Amino acid sequence: MDGPRRAAHLRLVAPVLANGLSLPASLLALAAASLKINFFSLPHHPRLGSAAQGSYLDARRTVDAMGEDLERLKQCVPLLGYLQRHHWRGHRVGEGPEFAGMCPLHEDTHPSFYVNAQKNLFYCHGCACGGDLIRFVELSHHLSFRESVAYLAEELAPTAQLFARATDFYQLELHRHREGMDYLAQRGVHDARLIEELGIGYARGGNLRPHLQALGYSLERLLEAGLIGPQGSDTFCRRVIFPCRQQDHIVNLYGRSIGNAFPHRLLPRSKGGLFAWESVRQFRNVILVEGLFDLAVLWQAGFRNTTCAIGTHLTPAQLAQLRENSDRCVYLAFDQDQNQAGQNAAYDLLQYLDKAGLNVRLVELPAGQDPNSYFAAGATAKDFAHLLEEATPL
Ligand SMILES: [Zn+2]
Repeated sequence: MDGPRRAAHLRLVAPVLANGLSLPASLLALAAASLKINFFSLPHHPRLGSAAQGSYLDARRTVDAMGEDLERLKQCVPLLGYLQRHHWRGHRVGEGPEFAGMCPLHEDTHPSFYVNAQKNLFYCHGCACGGDLIRFVELSHHLSFRESVAYLAEELAPTAQLFARATDFYQLELHRHREGMDYLAQRGVHDARLIEELGIGYARGGNLRPHLQALGYSLERLLEAGLIGPQGSDTFCRRVIFPCRQQDHIVNLYGRSIGNAFPHRLLPRSKGGLFAWESVRQFRNVILVEGLFDLAVLWQAGFRNTTCAIGTHLTPAQLAQLRENSDRCVYLAFDQDQNQAGQNAAYDLLQYLDKAGLNVRLVELPAGQDPNSYFAAGATAKDFAHLLEEATPL
């Protein structure tokens, strides 16, 4: 990376730093302070001294706060683990915490690079380089101290956080393109507060990648998370997006096509637990639906005890959630497909849950309907409550 590009990269990476590591105040302040004072011309750790000049008091406080955060960063990314992830092979020296291997920093002919896994330090007897993880990144990537911190922060930022950034973007996009809102209206989802609460967004396609790259995420990171396909284009295109949360972390994204593409799409990773389980688990009676549009209309109608497995198959973790409460009653409200697929899936699941010891009831919707189409066609909360009353046990 040349100078200007590096500087641009750093500016863009700042939000990632801010949110990824819970280092916001100190690192952002540091970025601002370093415009005035070039701490990073210091040989290494800014806590070690020369920044402590009176006129730079504010900047120094920043550096002190940052020092703690850097310690946290280094604890989160142990040096040995980092090296191994980057294909360094070292063998343990004796019984202690030391490892030795070929030096990644110079053309080595015999193992002269030593890592102390306990102290998180390295030293090379060949090129006489040594230090901690940040020093290693500085040397191996030819980055400044600050750039190295940014680089590590990006490496560390959890995927949940990346999904949160994508979700924020899709939520904004929902209000920029009519087709997303029109589709929601067509599916009977109109409550603005609910749309916000569920974090529903819209993927137009073709613009997520530049947005996330501008926030400092690398293309590799986006590919690995599945947000970008192998051809380099957005995975979600012309889809209404629901984030799937687990304990406040977004673990996956579901996209419903509004065009001719295959209707349902999840990223290639776990769909997580039951949808919104943190808020639904408090209810003794739980309504289980197949799709997120079913859930959205039921929540909108006041049935906040509705959860969703995204599909008709429950993972063992989802089953365990339903079984948390031994006298729980589960109302299955699955699609009444004309071709019987929905009923069969519901019946299989009914038996599965019954065998698992749960009290299960099957909600009979009118032929050809699912909870979403039922409400979109004009059914009321009272109508659905009536179906719940009529629901039959196995
Ligand atoms: Zn070396």
